[in-house]
Amino acid sequence: MMRVFNFSAGPAVLPLEVLEQARDEMLDWHGTGMSVMEMSHRGKAFVSIAAQAEADLRELLQVPANYKVLFLQGGATAQFAAIPMNLAGPDSVVDYVHTGAWSKKAIGEAKRYANVNVAANAGEPYASIPAQESWQRSPNAAYLHYTPNETIGGVEFHFIPDTNAEVPLVADLSSTILSRPLDVSKFGLIYAGAQKNIGPAGLALVIVREDLLGRARAGTPTILDFAAMAKDGSMLNTPPTYAWYVAGLVFQWLRRQGGLEAMGKRNQAKAAKLYEAIDDSSFYANPVAKGARSWMNVPFTLARPELDKTFIAEAREAGLVTLEGHRSVGGMRASLYNAMPMEGVDALVGFMREFERRHA
Ligand SMILES: *Cc1c(COP(=O)(O)O)cnc(C)c1O
Repeated sequence: MMRVFNFSAGPAVLPLEVLEQARDEMLDWHGTGMSVMEMSHRGKAFVSIAAQAEADLRELLQVPANYKVLFLQGGATAQFAAIPMNLAGPDSVVDYVHTGAWSKKAIGEAKRYANVNVAANAGEPYASIPAQESWQRSPNAAYLHYTPNETIGGVEFHFIPDTNAEVPLVADLSSTILSRPLDVSKFGLIYAGAQKNIGPAGLALVIVREDLLGRARAGTPTILDFAAMAKDGSMLNTPPTYAWYVAGLVFQWLRRQGGLEAMGKRNQAKAAKLYEAIDDSSFYANPVAKGARSWMNVPFTLARPELDKTFIAEAREAGLVTLEGHRSVGGMRASLYNAMPMEGVDALVGFMREFERRHA
């Protein structure tokens, strides 16, 4: 068997132990004689898998008791629409902070359902976070939405915006959830597609404060109504059972690693090593302001962009794959999610030094 170091931004690397456990349980989950894929979502076995996954997630993130955890479909993108539908009326004002390609998409979708005020716009090429003092916020916003980690630009908030108690804070944590501890009580709602730092594609997590439920506007599809989903334990219809199960294995793996405190230290060290290698060299560059650099997604360019293809090809030969930058920005991008071990970063840094020596 050959395993590569996979730096994909998503769907992304999963912990080897998790894949091995899923393999071992594939044909016969705990003596049931069937795969989790073949189980009724309403049967005892799957209900226990689902409940355990939620309990482990609550433990990891220290989710307060007055928050619901929802296991949904439609990715983060469905939530771009579901959030204004659930939290704002058609005439409401909603505040958005525009820091990159994903907040731009969230804004575009929200505009179809509410009056969007862009409280701040970092502007292209998206390399910093506008200072909070400069944000133009609406006094009566139904919520403030931001994207704590911009997966494409590699721009990350290293603070939680202040909101007064009346304006719920909403965050798209798709590419940074579970990368370190998070004070969930500061948020009205957080959400994340699973395929970056949680598990397989097909699942999205929503964690929402209970008092925000039950406000969905008339006409909201039932499948996008958070209150209806919460009432039925995310089983209003058939949930993505296998993805939910694998996410649960990832949560248990995270607990065995020492939880989010330990993951945060590890992730910070991984990112620091790669940024140091980039900053120490005049051959590689990262465009993001130092205080806004992502721990999870590290874009970088070569001083000689005509060598991009050679870099990608030789990296692949060395077992380092999916380092291409997003199609909209080019260059390289290394994603360093929880399941990427330090050895992967060491191998990448070693390869980069060697490539520079030969080509600079
Ligand atoms: C990947 C990503 C999305 C889109 O997720 P889907 O699950 O494909 O809908 C949205 N926001 C961020 C920050 C992402 O990284």
